[in-house]
Amino acid sequence: MKALAVLGSTGSIGTQTLELAEEFPDRFQVVALTAGNNLDLLIEQIRRHAPEVVALANADRVAELRERLGALDAAVRPARLPELLGGNEGLCAAAAWPSADLVVTGIVGCAGLLPTLAAVRAGKDLALANKETLIAAGPVVLPELEKSGARLLPADSEHSAIFQCLQGTPWADTARLSTGTPTPGLRRIQLTASGGAFRDWDPADLAKATVADATSHPNWSMGRKITVDSASLMNKGLEVIEAHYLFGLDYDAIEIVIHPQSIIHSMVELADSSVLAQLGWPDMKLPILYCLSWPERLETPWRRLDLTEVGTLSFRKPDPAKYPCMQLAYAAGRAGGTMPAVMNAANEQAVALFLAEQVHFLDIPRLIERVCDRHRVDLMAAPSLSDVLAVDAWARQAVHEAAAGLSARVPAALPA
Ligand code: NDP
Ligand code: MG
Repeated sequence: MKALAVLGSTGSIGTQTLELAEEFPDRFQVVALTAGNNLDLLIEQIRRHAPEVVALANADRVAELRERLGALDAAVRPARLPELLGGNEGLCAAAAWPSADLVVTGIVGCAGLLPTLAAVRAGKDLALANKETLIAAGPVVLPELEKSGARLLPADSEHSAIFQCLQGTPWADTARLSTGTPTPGLRRIQLTASGGAFRDWDPADLAKATVADATSHPNWSMGRKITVDSASLMNKGLEVIEAHYLFGLDYDAIEIVIHPQSIIHSMVELADSSVLAQLGWPDMKLPILYCLSWPERLETPWRRLDLTEVGTLSFRKPDPAKYPCMQLAYAAGRAGGTMPAVMNAANEQAVALFLAEQVHFLDIPRLIERVCDRHRVDLMAAPSLSDVLAVDAWARQAVHEAAAGLSARVPAALPA
């Protein structure tokens, strides 16, 4: 029985992880949950999984949670109520919970950084979904992993595909994973991208893109932030940096390929020129399950892949002019040090402004570029945790300043 701590349990990754725990009750047990604000769903999850500890990011609502749990009918209340914690300290304590074997990081954005580090420092293996943490703080997280012996198992479908492909090579020394040194024999990574919501849009029409347009993904059902990142291809750019930190390849050896069907989840080219790919329907449950069961594979009754049903698999190069975020991410990755943290925080803030209908979709790359340009002179090559937290806060503020500059030319209402 593997004991799980699920960070961000009320989100898309979190709920799918809990569904897996219910699907395999003799394999997985949930001992810790964390959430942001969604108390209704969290209470339902506490009822179903009876965890030992629950942490709420919003510490002000812990008392309300306690009250509502206490008021549950005895027939539906777990026999033992969980310990309730709040704020960052609470999230970190839940992430390092002594009885947990594996921590699933489903918090969105850099808010996941401190809990992720707490889990790493406690020597817990991690199923990494919260990519922003590794991107912002790779130079801090990687040495901590090496020190504690914790392993980062990739839950992101592309990195899971790469990880799965590498299991079949003579270099499947998984202890090497995420040490930041090159994986021996791995020559090139091809990350596949669905192309997101605007894959078939003419670039000229992107100026009219609304929040509803950007949050309807053709292939995957995910949280709002990552769905917008998919539409801008920033998600793929973030995944390039994630792959760099996980598998140690130079940026020139990590490529993006648009693959509209999302059947091939990524490919690796090995030293002898052989290319391996991992295939499946687009469903996050498989990469999450592989993190939970690794190195084993569990039998599932899930819909099996039938390529004759798919018919065609197609591939094309992404258009850099249509997807400037992709280029910004490569540039930030290559600059290294604190630049990915700045780029990531600027993106989080710009996406939040877009979702609040305060800036246009095309302003997202404009804002990120301005903020990254400003940071160039202050770039720190080997940042500490406090440096990362400081530049993250600075970049968020800098986006607001840059957005105020833009607003002079932004019409009050977005075009219909
Ligand atoms: P969601 O928005 O669906 O869920 C986010 C979770 O984080 C919720 O539980 C939310 O709590 C919690 N949360 C939000 N803000 C905070 C905060 N400040 N502090 C603590 N907890 C917070 O996101 P996803 O599940 O889509 O994504 C989670 C991560 O996984 C992201 O990093 C994403 O890039 C990555 N990922 C997601 C994939 C997917 O298919 N969804 C695929 C690959 C990677 P609440 O709702 O209670 O407020
Ligand atoms: Mg992905």
